[in-house]
Amino acid sequence: MSIKERIETLREELRKHNYNYYVLDNATISDFEFDMKLKELEKLEEENPQFFDANSPTQRVGGGITKNFETVTHKNRMYSLDNSYSKEDLLDWEKRIQKILGTTEIEYTCELKYDGASINLTYENGQFVKAVTRGDGFQGDDVSTNIKTIKSIPLVMDGDFVSNFEMRGEIILPLDGFEKMNEQRVAEGEEPYRNPRNTASGSLKLQDSAEVAKRPLDCLLYQVVTDERKYSSHAASLEAARNVGFKVPKTMIVAKNIEEVLAFVNEWDEKRHDLPYETDGVVVKVNNLQQQEELGYTSKSPRWAVAYKFKAEQVATILNEITYQVGRTGAITPVANLEPVQLAGTIVKRASLHNADQIEKLDIRINDTVYVEKGGEIIPKIIAVDFSKRPQGSQPTQYATHCPECQTELIRTEGDAKHYCPNTYGCAPQITGRIQHFISRKAMDIDGLGGETVDLLRKEGLIQNYADLYDLRVEQIIPLERMAEKSAQNMIDGIEKSKQIPFEKVLFALGIRFVGETVAKKLAKHFKSIDNLMTADFETLIAVDEIGDKIAESIVEFSNDLGNIQLIDRLKSYGLQLQVSEEDLANQTDKLQGKVFVVSGVFHQMSRNELKKAIENNGGKVSSSISKKTDYVVAGDNMGPSKKTKAEDLGVVIISEEDFIGMIS
Ligand code: AMP
Ligand code: ZN
Repeated sequence: MSIKERIETLREELRKHNYNYYVLDNATISDFEFDMKLKELEKLEEENPQFFDANSPTQRVGGGITKNFETVTHKNRMYSLDNSYSKEDLLDWEKRIQKILGTTEIEYTCELKYDGASINLTYENGQFVKAVTRGDGFQGDDVSTNIKTIKSIPLVMDGDFVSNFEMRGEIILPLDGFEKMNEQRVAEGEEPYRNPRNTASGSLKLQDSAEVAKRPLDCLLYQVVTDERKYSSHAASLEAARNVGFKVPKTMIVAKNIEEVLAFVNEWDEKRHDLPYETDGVVVKVNNLQQQEELGYTSKSPRWAVAYKFKAEQVATILNEITYQVGRTGAITPVANLEPVQLAGTIVKRASLHNADQIEKLDIRINDTVYVEKGGEIIPKIIAVDFSKRPQGSQPTQYATHCPECQTELIRTEGDAKHYCPNTYGCAPQITGRIQHFISRKAMDIDGLGGETVDLLRKEGLIQNYADLYDLRVEQIIPLERMAEKSAQNMIDGIEKSKQIPFEKVLFALGIRFVGETVAKKLAKHFKSIDNLMTADFETLIAVDEIGDKIAESIVEFSNDLGNIQLIDRLKSYGLQLQVSEEDLANQTDKLQGKVFVVSGVFHQMSRNELKKAIENNGGKVSSSISKKTDYVVAGDNMGPSKKTKAEDLGVVIISEEDFIGMIS
């Protein structure tokens, strides 16, 4: 046998053993033998580097370090799921989709909703290429090095399947593995991790993949995304995926109708506590892929799927203290500090109380026994007080009158849900919070600078606002605690690089109240420069589509503040992008101004996403469902028949990809 053949045989064997052990949970070889084979392969690969393969089993032990995770745009957006909480919600959903599809013949799949961190695995020619976190759904972080250490994820397909595809799934930490990790941490004198989900998601962002390899992470798969039309149903594609080595939980079923779905939900509401991992609901999907395609998506989630959430668990505990947190906008959030208690697999110590009204409504007091509930959100909620257990002589809670950080008197304007600390430019958490927001990923995305460092820089008097970042010099940073020359340089480089960040993100980064990501995009598109925006008056602002009173007021207030005007002038002088780039301007036309498009089917000259982008760049709007407002349907191959009928019924013009290209060129 040649060396090449020996290497291939070993890889093949080790792959099989990994699969048997980690996917089928059925070891077919002793650990010792496995290690011997792995060592042999490692040695052969080392001696014969010409046979290197990034997907070899030797590449799974970890050791690769990722300093900064690269941001990658998803080829296909990763949507959220619509939630439902009752039988009625599910029946309503059924009605809605029956109406769109024009039939009652709909089959469903029921899967558990695995509670972890979503991941998108890309395979080309049957080989693993990369793994990217969900991020904001449009783009996420490339965590391939870490993901490869999870042995239940196959790197090479074994058997008949599509060749180019994305596999979507959830990275989870099984409960027993989580408990073991915590036992060890406690033994080493460290704080236990709070819950499996956050620990799983935190693991993906560890810099040292050898650390990740030590954690008992697993990956449960729930969707195959591919242009190859090999399978006609969701269940069939997942079963095929299971056959080539993916861990697709066997709990999935196909339901013939909604009654069978409801039976599944009821069954698992009970049985879920016996599962080796956490689940917070059931995901119901339309099984037929053609029907899925016809149903399409809303702006946030697929119409063809819905998540049924199990009722949150509750537990009683004592309220020890109420403290107050100051956010970056000065908003005050009261926090209940609780006697630690076990809830849904995690230890709860704190719960959000939202605002003063909430405290008053619940009439919650120190030393009260309270009921805590945990839904999908990370911070649990207090839902009620057990008045029968209230201690004698207890006093109603007096809400804070002064900022806990800077002692300024708090204000609450009519109509505002929260109290605010008005000391915007002098209150530490506000200063830090604004800068932290400025550098965050969706804003200026500054590498090499983290939230804690911002706080440190502020404490050291090096920065008071985000403009100060651009005056920082390496020599000033090196003397700081825990700062090496290399990291100081990285930070300065990261700050320098942020000068290229496009205007819409800079606008979001400024942290103007009520100007979130989407609003910033709208404003950038409309006003094209910070000068145009800051000189716009209230009337001009509210005339813009989707800009309301609150946003307009906040922008006017921001623009009239002398301090802000000076900050912006400084940002300009450093060379930040405070207007839309020439390139963007050149690519934008208003050829399709005011026209509403629906895109359906498969295209040849551009991808669906490119097509949508082209519509928007030329001033058109993309909508996901056909209505009277639709002007054109751009139809590719395999456009859904119900869409076609609907377009024809409403008299909407159907055009081809070529027609569309003609419209914009
Ligand atoms: P949400 O984040 O609440 O909008 O729920 C959507 C997320 O549920 C997806 O991003 C997935 O990561 C996750 N999920 C867990 N199990 C499933 C499943 N069986 N099918 C689809 N999504 C799932
Ligand atoms: Zn304050």
